Amino acid sequence: MSFDDDKRRGVHRDGGGRGNALKVFSSNTKQETESKNEVLEKTMTPLEIMDDALKTYGDDIAIAFSGAEDVALIQYAHLTNRPYRVFSLDTGRLNPETYELFDQVEKHFGIKIEYCVPNEEQLEAFVNEKGLFSFYEDGHKECCGIRKVQPLRKKLSTLKAWITGQRKDQSPGTRMQVPAIQLDPAFQGILNGNELVKYNPLTNATSQEVWDFLRVMSTPVNALHSQGYVSIGCAPCTRPVTPGQQEREGRWWWENASDKECGLHSGNLSKEEKEKQEKREEDAADIFTDTAAISVETRDSMQKRISRDGKNEENEMIVLYAPWCPFCQAMEGSFTESAQTYGKAKNVRYSKFRADQDEKEWSKENLSLKSFPTILFFPKGREGYVKLGGERRDVDSLQIFIESIVGK
Ligand code: SF4
Repeated sequence: MSFDDDKRRGVHRDGGGRGNALKVFSSNTKQETESKNEVLEKTMTPLEIMDDALKTYGDDIAIAFSGAEDVALIQYAHLTNRPYRVFSLDTGRLNPETYELFDQVEKHFGIKIEYCVPNEEQLEAFVNEKGLFSFYEDGHKECCGIRKVQPLRKKLSTLKAWITGQRKDQSPGTRMQVPAIQLDPAFQGILNGNELVKYNPLTNATSQEVWDFLRVMSTPVNALHSQGYVSIGCAPCTRPVTPGQQEREGRWWWENASDKECGLHSGNLSKEEKEKQEKREEDAADIFTDTAAISVETRDSMQKRISRDGKNEENEMIVLYAPWCPFCQAMEGSFTESAQTYGKAKNVRYSKFRADQDEKEWSKENLSLKSFPTILFFPKGREGYVKLGGERRDVDSLQIFIESIVGK
């Protein structure tokens, strides 16, 4: 494919029909990028957007290739007959199938992928301190920061523009605003000092359209797709999605669940979601309300309990709860029944401590709170507490939990 040479930067040409109504701007101010976006999004196909990107930025632009269906970008670049560069983030945690695809792609298109690897010193310090799976405990941000974001930042700091495979339909929550071209809001490049342009040629394409294209072009694809994977990232953080799920629900799923159900990762929520969550916390009616069977704890009483020197004076089962949490609501019946029957019969004191809002950070630090509900048992005659590890919270399971600590 080829376009007229007068489509070079700085030449504006209006005409009828797709491919003629092109505007290319020499400066990359925000407004001009937005204006160019209107033209690209309305009138141009992924192939035409790709051609515009490569023609405009030449050797100063590169395609970010993750090893998933964004391989379509490479196929489009190939079709332009222009030289193009491709880079990939080798986090060290990718699936073997992804590394195999990298190799196939290099051979199929006759290119060399530029691999970006994490800073060795930082990575070594991180895994030695926190182990290899800390993201399941405290979130993916730190690991992604070292293995992905910093290498990406380093690569982008050498470019004027980059090309990604982002599409609007990938995740309604986070990707509805994906322009065909934009000034990158997050990263810096070398354009006009430190600006960076981002092209998203696939933004308006659907997954079906991308797959139809890959099929007719016989483009090599990641073998994981045939195992149900849609979005592909690092092996421990990616799983197949079921029909009807958004494709990005297959990534960092344990955190997504917490965001929706437990509210412990409020840092990841958008402003709107945060406001909704705050309202939910304010409005929720209290639960575990049988105060004859279940005592109410406060920060002071919990503080005394954990800081008292020496042994617990009685057997105590305490639920750390949030009244709006559906999991807490779901166990209200079994916890109450267990308190009324087993608790009374065996002289085990049952209590509740509302651990959201102002108590959340303190509870995370002092009471091992990671999600709601958290159930702690303070055994009589011993120090400290034992945390219920499983998610079964029916009457029998609560009893088995206590008896496994104090005996029958
Ligand atoms: Fe680490 Fe998972 Fe992020 Fe990969 S996706 S960098 S393994 S947290």
